[in-house]
Amino acid sequence: RASVGPKYLTGLNPEQRDAVETLDGPVLVLAGAGTGKTRVLTTRIAHILSQGRARPAEILSVTFTNKAAREMKHRLGQMLGQAVEGMPWLGTFHSIGGRILRTHAELAQLKSNFTVLDTDDQVRLLKQLLQADNIDDKRWPARMLAGLIDGWKNRGLTPSQVPPGEAAVFANGKGGKLYASYQERLKILNAADFGDLLLEDIRIFREHPDILRQYQQRFKFILVDEYQDTNVAQYLWLRLLSQAPSKPAAQAAIPERVEDSNPDSPSESDNTHRPEMTERAAIAAASAGPTKNICCVGDDDQSIYGWRGAEVDNILRFDHDFPGAKVIRLERNYRSTGHILAAASHLIAHNEGRLGKTLRTEDQDGEKVTVTGSWDSEEEARGIGEEIEQIQRQGEKLNEVAILVRASYQMREFEDRFVTLGLPYRVIGGPRFYERAEIRDALAYLRVINSPADDLAFERIVNVPKRGLGDATVQMLHDHARKRRIPLFEAARAVVETDELKPKARGSLRDVVTQFDRWRAQREVTAHTDLAQIVLDESGYTEMWQKDRSADAAGRLENLKELVRSMEEFENLQGFLEHISLVMDRDSGADEDAVSLMTLHSAKGLEFDNVFLPGWEEGLFPSQRTLDEQGRAGLEEERRLGHVGLTRARRRAKIYFATNRRIHGTWSTTIPSRFLDELPAANVEITESKGGSAWGGTGGYGASRFDDMEAFGSTYSTPGWQRAQANRNRGQANGQGRNGGGGRGGFEEEASNFSSTSSSGP
Ligand code: ATP
Ligand code: MG
Repeated sequence: RASVGPKYLTGLNPEQRDAVETLDGPVLVLAGAGTGKTRVLTTRIAHILSQGRARPAEILSVTFTNKAAREMKHRLGQMLGQAVEGMPWLGTFHSIGGRILRTHAELAQLKSNFTVLDTDDQVRLLKQLLQADNIDDKRWPARMLAGLIDGWKNRGLTPSQVPPGEAAVFANGKGGKLYASYQERLKILNAADFGDLLLEDIRIFREHPDILRQYQQRFKFILVDEYQDTNVAQYLWLRLLSQAPSKPAAQAAIPERVEDSNPDSPSESDNTHRPEMTERAAIAAASAGPTKNICCVGDDDQSIYGWRGAEVDNILRFDHDFPGAKVIRLERNYRSTGHILAAASHLIAHNEGRLGKTLRTEDQDGEKVTVTGSWDSEEEARGIGEEIEQIQRQGEKLNEVAILVRASYQMREFEDRFVTLGLPYRVIGGPRFYERAEIRDALAYLRVINSPADDLAFERIVNVPKRGLGDATVQMLHDHARKRRIPLFEAARAVVETDELKPKARGSLRDVVTQFDRWRAQREVTAHTDLAQIVLDESGYTEMWQKDRSADAAGRLENLKELVRSMEEFENLQGFLEHISLVMDRDSGADEDAVSLMTLHSAKGLEFDNVFLPGWEEGLFPSQRTLDEQGRAGLEEERRLGHVGLTRARRRAKIYFATNRRIHGTWSTTIPSRFLDELPAANVEITESKGGSAWGGTGGYGASRFDDMEAFGSTYSTPGWQRAQANRNRGQANGQGRNGGGGRGGFEEEASNFSSTSSSGP
């Protein structure tokens, strides 16, 4: 191989270069975070194109998010020195699977314009099926069934393939039957859910070898990023596409089990229900031709989607599944400084089920990973806000700052803090808190109370929940308002005194006017938080979501609670709404220099100079739910999530925990995450919160050893607010704002065990 080559190859290390240039046969790049796996994939595409081995439309390249696909295209353009046009098969499993399904929709009893259902729709549909079958939705929630069906689809199982034992867990054995009727309903509605986008492809490929062959011929190269997070269905799909096309006569339909619900397909005679592993073997046997040029990259230590059916097994079995595979390991991490890498490696070393690999950096040690304790989550947000401002003052870009949370409800506190500080931010992977539909609705109610002339707000909620006040009514109110130059609300007040509206609509509208008048009167005598709760309840808005059975209704109700809670921080309704208008006003332009806020799960593959990791507390992280549901395996997955979080950082990684956190409105006392205990002391520095404290000081934590967590737990058993009060009193009595932690037991004694920078005052 020539040592000089095209420009895009320069700078790659020998192993990376090997992975780029080995174009023929299966290749697995199994390597840790930041070793250049994604960069290798992108360079490999550039290499294929510039060597003329394939045209853009002949390369199938799977990324984990749409954003990652755009990014890859952009980098590709930079490498080749020209924009890359026409890479139609560069995208996520869903987008590519959907594209294939649309082309052959009629083979799945769909039309090519079929709708893709979201979780909402999916649950609503299942609810109808349960009703039709007289199954009690309370005892057997539609959402649970949706989860089961998704799980089966992730494992590549059609209704007839679901093992009877598993189908039995729902509604006394009706699970499998319901899955079948659900599939039937989807066809009637000309709809598919996300799982179908791959499952139907797989079915079409198996039933129609000629079609499969077309795709096998088309895709000269297949590349997959984040292979450790593929599920069985994705694996089967890849496996089918990655076989070299056989001669037409030699390839018979791959035997499969056919859904009972499908009258057009021949039904198989034997009734053995094969779980997905036999399925896998069947496909392997039937498609035992030579494997084509498939290159997968991944890291078993970053497998974080087990709860969604990902099988880390896929990566462990690669050389078995793709015989003759070349496995390439990359060991040099180009992303993080020494301390960060050491901390991340040490943490993940506590997992048992792993292949184990070396990661080294030639970078400097850099700054130690910091761990900071705060009194509560508010102080945590304040402290992080201050640190970010400091980073900004040093001339660094906000684009290089990320906050990675375990649970999305943690975001609200940061969003509020940033607005107060005037720090631009963006939320990756979801809407910002105050932009969520239910929050906007609730705010609209409050705005109309605050200002009867707020026409936009009035129009938004006049018929939410539904009151029979449709577009015609609103149009009429508009006419009226325009003519008399009055707000919509006043127009409504006038109109209900006339007979311009039908009696029913008039009655509804009158109720709305009366309600708002009443709430406005109440405002004078009721705390604004109470008023908000009253308005949400009396308007029927809360009930609307309580009755809604869609998957995210519960989340919306939680958000509404969080909204009411967030109002506590303001003196009155006016102050709160002013704050909100500032939040909403913020320009969220994509090019803006802004802090990124996201969950650890959405942070996969990304990197930032500065990474903040708040909420490292037992119960939140590791998540209690994961521990309850998955035990040891769940704990290991949470630990991998921590590893992913730390390895996102280039230069600074900062971990936080709070002693008190309000979860869904209730204060809980928390103890530091066991993961803190698993960090290597040599690479970690305990620092104090810069957030200023209502608590007697964070010095106690700074001085403490995390491996004494049991003691932590038992020392802090009084409710948070009581302790807050006690500490405040103590602080005053002692005449000191900090280090007044009489309730912290024997932690001060251990001060010498940890290097602690305890100089910064509140
Ligand atoms: P993750 O597992 O987190 O997805 P990864 O293995 O995909 O990480 P990349 O994102 O491809 O790693 O690379 C990490 C960083 O290192 C990127 O900024 C990339 O540009 C840089 N990098 C990779 N290889 C080299 C190299 N040979 N020389 C210089 N920088 C490199
Ligand atoms: Mg990557």
